Amino acid sequence: MTYKAEYIWIDGTLPTAKLRSKTRILADGAELPIWGFDGSSTNQAEGHASDRVLKPVSSFPDPIRGGDDVLVMCEVFDIDGTPHESNTRAALREVAEKFAAQESLFGIEQEYTFFQGSRPLGFPEGGYPAPQGGYYCGVGADEIFGRPVVEKHLENCLAAGLGISGINAEVMPGQWEFQVGPLSPLEVSDHLWVARWLLYRTAEDFGVSATLDPKPAKGDWNGAGAHTNFSTKAMREGYEAIVEAAESLGRDDKPLEHIKNYGIGVEARLTGAHETAPWNEYSYGVSNRGASVRIPWQVEVDQKGYIEDRRPNANMDPYVVTRLMVDTCGTALEKAGLV
Ligand code: ADP
Ligand code: MN
Ligand code: MN
Ligand code: MN
Repeated sequence: MTYKAEYIWIDGTLPTAKLRSKTRILADGAELPIWGFDGSSTNQAEGHASDRVLKPVSSFPDPIRGGDDVLVMCEVFDIDGTPHESNTRAALREVAEKFAAQESLFGIEQEYTFFQGSRPLGFPEGGYPAPQGGYYCGVGADEIFGRPVVEKHLENCLAAGLGISGINAEVMPGQWEFQVGPLSPLEVSDHLWVARWLLYRTAEDFGVSATLDPKPAKGDWNGAGAHTNFSTKAMREGYEAIVEAAESLGRDDKPLEHIKNYGIGVEARLTGAHETAPWNEYSYGVSNRGASVRIPWQVEVDQKGYIEDRRPNANMDPYVVTRLMVDTCGTALEKAGLV
């Protein structure tokens, strides 16, 4: 007998990478082997030397196929064993290892938008829906578009054993959010990429597509972000570390370094309107959804907990964003003796 393994990887498409996957049939009980693919079809190689290597790094029960079948998250390597330049997970491995003693945790809020044809799901043909106001966490067929897809995606994530922690309808018709975490940097990132794959795959069966486009509709509509909630052991135990982490993200050249790596089109989303702070002015504050970084009110009450970086775009790469946050905050906390 056999089982099916769906090998999933991140390609080399610029400016925003795409997910790719293909199926391998394996003998029952066989371990997941290293595999390969044609990098010239994924913007990861030239045609004359096109072989690239897939190395399994985590696997999950496949909720679509069921049985013993699995989803396999992979890293991409060149044939000489060096991580391919599109392999952003390799750099996160090193930083996560370096700061492992700080026990970083992340919870990521993934916003996204369903499309049918060229319009967001729920946008009327040749016009616009009623303005923002009633859609966020709404109920009823006049406000909610795509709920069956969202419910199926949630079930699939749970059946796959992903650390999904919630869902909600967002401020624009057809726009939704799911949250992954809190988990370690590598886990939250692997789980988020697989949850994204499951989102596209689940929606496929309903004849709709999902996009992580940070500005899916022009005009007076919120963009789509990926608020990244972060804590270390010291932050979960005391407020001094919370403030130091929030401060560290605003020091020297850090704001720009982070913004540049928070997803293509981040300047178009972080305008200062629509619950965002301007991309070129770093700020943090308690309860402030108009700041770059928010300290939730409960965290101030408890004097411990986590911070929320509200800047990352929906289309960000979690391997990159979590690496930068662990590095920037981790270095500062170490220097301040808050570990
Ligand atoms: P919002 O009010 O911003 O919409 P959400 O409830 O959507 O907040 O998301 C909050 C996220 O914060 C969740 O993913 C949750 O897992 C995460 N979170 C909670 N506690 C921690 C923590 N100590 N460290 C990191 N993330 C956390
Ligand atoms: Mn949220
Ligand atoms: Mn949201
Ligand atoms: Mn949030």
